[in-house]
Amino acid sequence: MIVLAVNAGSSSVKLQVIDTAEDRLIGKVMVECRGITHDEAIARGLDELNSPAIQGVGHRVVHGGDRFSGSVLITGEVIRAVEDLCYLAPLHNPVNLAGIRACLHLLPDVPQVAVFDTAFHATVPPAAYTYALPRDIAAKWKIRRYGFHGTSHRYLTERFAALQGRPPSDFNLITIHLGNGCSACAVEKGHAVDSTMGMTPLEGLVMGTRPGDLDPAIVYRLLEWERLDIAALDHLLNHKSGLLGLSGLSNDMRELLRLESEGSEPARLAIDVFCHRIRRYIGAFYAILNGADAIVISGGIGENQAAIRSRVCRDLQALGISLDESANAQCRGREADLSAPAARTRVWVIPTNEELLIARDTAALIASRNGHLDGQAV
Ligand code: AMP
Repeated sequence: MIVLAVNAGSSSVKLQVIDTAEDRLIGKVMVECRGITHDEAIARGLDELNSPAIQGVGHRVVHGGDRFSGSVLITGEVIRAVEDLCYLAPLHNPVNLAGIRACLHLLPDVPQVAVFDTAFHATVPPAAYTYALPRDIAAKWKIRRYGFHGTSHRYLTERFAALQGRPPSDFNLITIHLGNGCSACAVEKGHAVDSTMGMTPLEGLVMGTRPGDLDPAIVYRLLEWERLDIAALDHLLNHKSGLLGLSGLSNDMRELLRLESEGSEPARLAIDVFCHRIRRYIGAFYAILNGADAIVISGGIGENQAAIRSRVCRDLQALGISLDESANAQCRGREADLSAPAARTRVWVIPTNEELLIARDTAALIASRNGHLDGQAV
């Protein structure tokens, strides 16, 4: 099936056309939204792609709340449910919806599917997803950890198992997505059981411009001390913190490593804090899983930065982790086992491919719907 995978963000729309019969990428394009609507951006992207007839559209939707534990065909009811969840993801769900509406308008006869960043985490148990807040307030606002990057963590889980020639249920994994956004996931026998991200994608690991874990008192003290309003605080935590805020220099890990090698102390501290947080969660998830078969690293930083992988995995022999430094140094943007031969816990790099999973889910749901309709016709 020829599927269009749509990732609609606030500043750009990323489109990929994938032939799911062969897992083949036919074309991809990114269109900046500055000054144009999502309708115009997607129309321009489709023009540029000049692809064969599209038979299905799969949309990345960031927040599925506790409503969606898997991908679904888009109906009016699904759109209303995603609208209802906008209060939990005000930066993401509204733009994802704009992408959905644009495609319904531009490709009205093509079935569309929503693939949620939260869905893979639906198996996380209450002990891991519940915040220790008063239960009536938590229930009223559905305050709990949802986890994000689920499509990436699911891809890494399925791909790792496929590379071993065994089912995902054979493995306990710690999957780590290190891009501009960063998260880790504890995966027990193929199912997520804990995540670093919380009610929103702010919690957990240090990210390009987000701080990850913070003492919550810092947040309300800042409102008072800096006389910030909520919007300014939201901006500080989503766009000014993380590697960028820590270093005062850049959110780009390539740039930070270069500056560190030239002697920049702020760059060194930013990278140290980044790596320390990842190590802390590797330890936590190792305990939650009662041991892991492998750590699977991905994302722009994870796939390309041997120096970061090396700093993250250093001195973890107690957890059975030991890198083959030469295999690590040679791995850039490709699948590889980086572990020393005797290491009990393997360390793998697997480039993530969220679009491929979006396309596969889309094709599967449309095929089962068509089968269902054919069945009715007979
Ligand atoms: P992502 O959000 O997955 O695109 O990752 C963005 C982060 O990955 C940035 O911090 C980049 O510095 C880093 N990154 C992306 N591509 C590369 C590359 N080819 N080499 C080194 N770092 C990279």
